[in-house]
Amino acid sequence: MTVGVVGAGISGLTLVRSLEERGADVAAFEARDEPGGVMRSRRVDGRVLELGPQRLRLTPGIESLVDDLELRDQLRIGDDDQPLYVYHDGSLEVVPLSVREAITTDLLSPRGKLRILKEPFTDPQRPGETVDEFLVRKFGRQAARRYFGPLYSGLYGTDPRDMLMEYSLGRALDGAGIDGSILTWVARKVVSGRDAPPICSFDDGLGKLSERLYEEHADSIALETPVERIEETGEGYEIVTPDGTERVDDVVLTTPAPTSAALLESVDDGLATTLREFNYNPIGMVFVESDLERDGIGALVPSGSDVGISGSTWNASFLDRDRLFTCYVDPASDPEMPDRSDEELGAVAAAEFERLTGASATPIHVHRWDPGMPAYDRSWTAMDDLQPPEGIHFCANYVGRPGIPGRIRNAKRLAGKLAEDEGDRSRSAAVAESN
Ligand SMILES: Cc1cc2nc3c(=O)[nH]c(=O)nc-3n(C[C@H](O)[C@H](O)[C@H](O)COP(=O)(O)OP(=O)(O)OC[C@H]3O[C@@H](n4cnc5c(N)ncnc54)[C@H](O)[C@@H]3O)c2cc1C
Repeated sequence: MTVGVVGAGISGLTLVRSLEERGADVAAFEARDEPGGVMRSRRVDGRVLELGPQRLRLTPGIESLVDDLELRDQLRIGDDDQPLYVYHDGSLEVVPLSVREAITTDLLSPRGKLRILKEPFTDPQRPGETVDEFLVRKFGRQAARRYFGPLYSGLYGTDPRDMLMEYSLGRALDGAGIDGSILTWVARKVVSGRDAPPICSFDDGLGKLSERLYEEHADSIALETPVERIEETGEGYEIVTPDGTERVDDVVLTTPAPTSAALLESVDDGLATTLREFNYNPIGMVFVESDLERDGIGALVPSGSDVGISGSTWNASFLDRDRLFTCYVDPASDPEMPDRSDEELGAVAAAEFERLTGASATPIHVHRWDPGMPAYDRSWTAMDDLQPPEGIHFCANYVGRPGIPGRIRNAKRLAGKLAEDEGDRSRSAAVAESN
């Protein structure tokens, strides 16, 4: 079996590793001159900036990967026993993430707190319900709009009123095995003492993980080799790049939906049309230097507020990164964001960071992602029509979990399935031959 993999972000890198472990031949192509996709780190004036994800959860799967790649001595465990804030009514309030914080928070009125306790007696998800409708019905308007909504939708830059449960939060809850009351599920976790895995990064940033994965599989990954198109041959597929054509049995696309659409045009134009329907939100990452001394993981800004950033991550506080804070700007928080110069974007974010925290901030770097995060908005109903032909597979955040542990699990699962299918094909061929 030869598998062609398009893209060497964390999904592509994990696929290459898992497929090779199963004895498959792999040919992977990456358009850029470095691996990692959005999981990329940069040093600017001595500081480590995470251009994409800021941290990941050290799940057992990630921990064993870290050990296999001999990265344990570079692992940086974050202190996540710090508050997360949300902007409300002109100031930052602590997001209640523990029973103690839930009782003491000023974010909700006593009535708003009591309303949350009704959740176990509410109906499960209803057909056609939006994330906002679901959260309001479950937890009441205050908790839904002031923190559950921003907590879930913050990273995607999408208003919870535009996200359908079935295609967004509902999938995340299913993935976590929550099919009944969310509060009961949380209470069981608290009682059983099962904590979330710690948050982590590496001394040189998360890009280290991609770098090491690439080093171990460099023979199978062609950097600076953008795939131009994919063509069907009757017996498999051809992957066309500026350097030539690779014949493969199966193709896995790890690229964002619009890119995959362009590559698959000649294989199946209906599929390409479906792929073009998925919306993405551009994201501006503004890195600022500040003397803010407060402990915290970061601050969320609910959609619809008057603040020009959608949130910030406090790398200085929980990852001990020297005076570094990362602000997020998207068109929902700042409609002029796509047209602003980097200088303007830096100034807007620094000013808003100052307004929220009271500490002065200086922009040190700006990075933009376009396409950024999948929006998981109403355009995700296109999932129902996403039927790739045999031999074409998607392993990307718009069809699976977006977090890094989720991407790694998806890639390993797909590699296992491809190897199994190949085993079945070989057995059938052997039986046919012996007959
Ligand atoms: C701003 C941001 C913050 C995030 N924060 C977190 C976080 O804190 N924690 C967390 O767990 N997750 C976070 N995520 C989510 C997570 O980082 C991503 O879902 C994940 O890294 C996506 O990896 P991927 O390999 O699926 O896709 P990508 O990283 O997008 O990789 C796709 C690859 O395909 C390549 N490519 C594109 N076109 C072609 C072509 N024609 N030919 C060949 N190659 C091509 C690209 O260059 C890229 O390397 C964040 C994401 C973003 C954008």
